[in-house]
Amino acid sequence: MKLTYEEIVDRFEELYEAYPDVSEPKYKKLIDKMKIEGKTSLFINFDDIIEFDFNLSEQILDNPEFVLPGATDALKKVFGAEPDKRMTARLFNLPSTQRVDVKDIRAVNINKFIQVEGVVRRTTEVKPEIIEAVFKCDRCGELITVVQDNPYFKSPVTCTSPACGRNGPFTLMKMHSTFVDWQTIKIQEKPEKLRGGQLPRAIDCIIRDEIVDTAQAGNVVNVVGILKTVQETLGKGGAKKTTFNKLLEVNSIEIKEKDIQDLEISEEDEEKILELASDPKICENITNSIAPSIYGNEHVKYAVALQLFSSEARLLHDGTRIRGDSHILLVGDPGVAKSQILKYMNTVAPRSIYTSGKGTSAAGLTAAVIRDETSGTFALEAGALVIADNGIACIDEIDKMSSDDRSSIHEAMEQQTISIAKAGIIATLNARASILAAANPKRGRFDSYKPLGEQIDLLPTLLSRFDLIFILTDKPKEAEDKKIAEHILKLHSDEEDAIIPLLETEMIRKYAIYSKKTIQEISLTEEAKNRLLEFYVSIRKKGEEKNTPIPITARQLESLIRLSESRARMRLSDKVMVEDVEDIIQLYMKSIEEVGKDPETGEIDIDMIMTGRSKSQRDKITIIMDIISNLDKKNNNDGALTSDVYEEARAENISDSFTRKIIDELKQKGDVYEPRPDRLKLTLL
Ligand code: ADP
Ligand code: MG
Repeated sequence: MKLTYEEIVDRFEELYEAYPDVSEPKYKKLIDKMKIEGKTSLFINFDDIIEFDFNLSEQILDNPEFVLPGATDALKKVFGAEPDKRMTARLFNLPSTQRVDVKDIRAVNINKFIQVEGVVRRTTEVKPEIIEAVFKCDRCGELITVVQDNPYFKSPVTCTSPACGRNGPFTLMKMHSTFVDWQTIKIQEKPEKLRGGQLPRAIDCIIRDEIVDTAQAGNVVNVVGILKTVQETLGKGGAKKTTFNKLLEVNSIEIKEKDIQDLEISEEDEEKILELASDPKICENITNSIAPSIYGNEHVKYAVALQLFSSEARLLHDGTRIRGDSHILLVGDPGVAKSQILKYMNTVAPRSIYTSGKGTSAAGLTAAVIRDETSGTFALEAGALVIADNGIACIDEIDKMSSDDRSSIHEAMEQQTISIAKAGIIATLNARASILAAANPKRGRFDSYKPLGEQIDLLPTLLSRFDLIFILTDKPKEAEDKKIAEHILKLHSDEEDAIIPLLETEMIRKYAIYSKKTIQEISLTEEAKNRLLEFYVSIRKKGEEKNTPIPITARQLESLIRLSESRARMRLSDKVMVEDVEDIIQLYMKSIEEVGKDPETGEIDIDMIMTGRSKSQRDKITIIMDIISNLDKKNNNDGALTSDVYEEARAENISDSFTRKIIDELKQKGDVYEPRPDRLKLTLL
C-alpha cells in the first residue's frame, strides 16, 4: 500500500519520537544533539526503518525522490526548524539487495536508492551551487524563482506576472537566491575487488551541504544515493544524444576503516592455517609456493613472501612514525621474470594494485591536482600508492616514472604520506603501501662491473629507501639454463603433475590475512636483539678498521628489524627469535652482496647505494681534486694544466677515462672551472 506524502511525514515523525520506545527515542536524542552541535544532518540506520515500518522502507527504496523529502520535512518539524532551513535526513546501511559494485551499475538502478562501496580516487574543491535562482523581470520588476534541479542552469521563459507575461529580459538576483555547498568525488572499485589486472571502473558522485569535504582521496567509503542520469551532448553545447552519463546523488557517505579482512576465514580455514603454522618449515613452504611458474629466484620469492606479511608501524613517544612495510626493488636484465613476479604478487596479495611507472592515470604513482573535465573545477586525484594504501603497490618499470612522482615518492616511501599543495588544494594523503618495484638497466643489460646507481635511472636517495634490492642477471649457465627450460616446458605441457605448489594462492592469501589480524604486537626477544646488535656493530667495525667503506647504516638496521618481525609473523608468532634474525641477515647479505659490492675492490659498501658511488671512487675524486689544487698552487694560482692533471692521476693509478669523467662532472657541478682553455681551477678555494 502506497503512503501519501502526508502519511510519510507522519510515519517519520513517529519514527523520530517513538522508536524503538517512546521513553527512549533514539532519533529524538540525536536530533537534540544536532541542536547543540549546530548540525543539519540526521543519520538514520535503514535497519531501524525496516523494523519500524517495512512498508515505508520498501517505498523509500522504490521511490526515494518522493519519500526522502518527507523524512526531511518530518525532521524539521521535530527539530522545530523554519520550513526553509536546509536540513537533510540521511540514510545509511541499505539492505544487501541495494548494494551494487561500481562495475555492476545498470539501467535498472536509475532513480533508485543504491549503496556503492569504493575507494575515493578524486575529490574536487567545494563550490557554492545555486539551487533556487531568483530573477527580476527587467520590464515589470516581478521576482521569479526558478528551482535548479539539473546540472544546466535554467532561466525563466516568460514573466510569471499576469499583467506582464513578456519574455524578459531577466536579471539574476544573487542576493535573493539560495546557494549550497557542492562537491563531486569519483569513487572506484576497491583494489581488493580487482583480480588479475582488471581495470577499475569509477562513478562520479555529487555531494551537497554538510557532508562535503568529509571524504579524502584514498578513503574507502560506503556511499548511499540516488542514481541519476545526465544526457550527453555532441561536443560542448552540441546536439543531444540518446545516451546518458551516470551520476550518483549522494544522500550519505560513510568512511570505512580500511582493513583487509573482507575475505571470510572459516573455522575450517583457521584449523588448516594453524596446522600449517605448526610445521617448523612453514617459511620455506610458503616461499616455495610463491609464483610456482617461475623457476629459481628463491631469495626473491622469500623476500616478497615476507613483504606479504609485513610488520606493524611503530609510533614513537616523540610522535614520529616508523613504517612497518618493507619496500623491495628488483633490477635486472630483460626477460628474467621480474614483471611476472610483480603480477603474481598482485594476484596473491589481499589488497594490491599493479601499475607501471609510466602510470595509466593522470595522478601517476603519487597524487596530482588536475582539472576535472565534467565540472571544470580543480580536483585532487589519488595515484597508485594512495589507492594501494594498506596493501602492496606493484610498480613495474619504476625507473620510467614522471618527474612529479620522482619528487614526491621519497616522502611516500619513508613517511608513507603524500603532501600536495597546488592550485589552492592543500592535502596530505595516506600512502601506507609496501612497494614492490622493478627497474630495467638504462642500457638494456646489467653490467656487474659498474655500480648500480650508474645503471638505473633512480636517485641514490630513492634506492636507499628500499629494504631489499635484488639484481637479477641473465648469464648463460648450462646446468641452470637446462633446469629453467625444463621448468617452462613442463608448464606448457598437459601433464597432471605439472607444477602444483604446496599452498595454493588462495590459502597463502588467507594465511597472510589471518596472521596480520591475529599477530599485532611483535617484539624482539633479548637474544634476537643481541644478535642484531652484534651484527650491526661487527659489520660497522669492519669498515672502521680498514678505513674503508661504511657497510651499513641505521636505516638498514631498521630494515632488518622490520623483516625479522615479518618472519615471526609468517610463523604466526609475536616473538622474534634469534633464528628469525639469522635468516634475515642471510637474506640481507645476499641482497647487499649484489648491490653494495664495490666492483673495484670487492668490498661491501653501502655508499654504493646511498651516494651512487663507492668509497674507492670517492677517494679517487678527492685525489683528482687534490692534484688540481696542488698544480694550481705550483702555477701561482694560474690554474692546473689539464694534461698535467691526467699525468699525475695516472701516477696514482687512475685511468684517463675516469679522470675525464670526473673532470666533466666536477665542471658540471661547478666545483671546477676553466679560467682559460686547458686550465683547471677549483671553485671552492
Ligand atoms: P622482465 O619483466 O624481467 O623483463 P618477464 O617477467 O616479462 O621479464 O619474463 C619474460 C618471460 O620469461 C615470462 O614469460 C617468464 O615467465 C619467463 N621466464 C623468465 N625467467 C623465468 C624463470 N626463471 N622461470 C620461469 N619462467 C621464466
Ligand atoms: Mg618487465
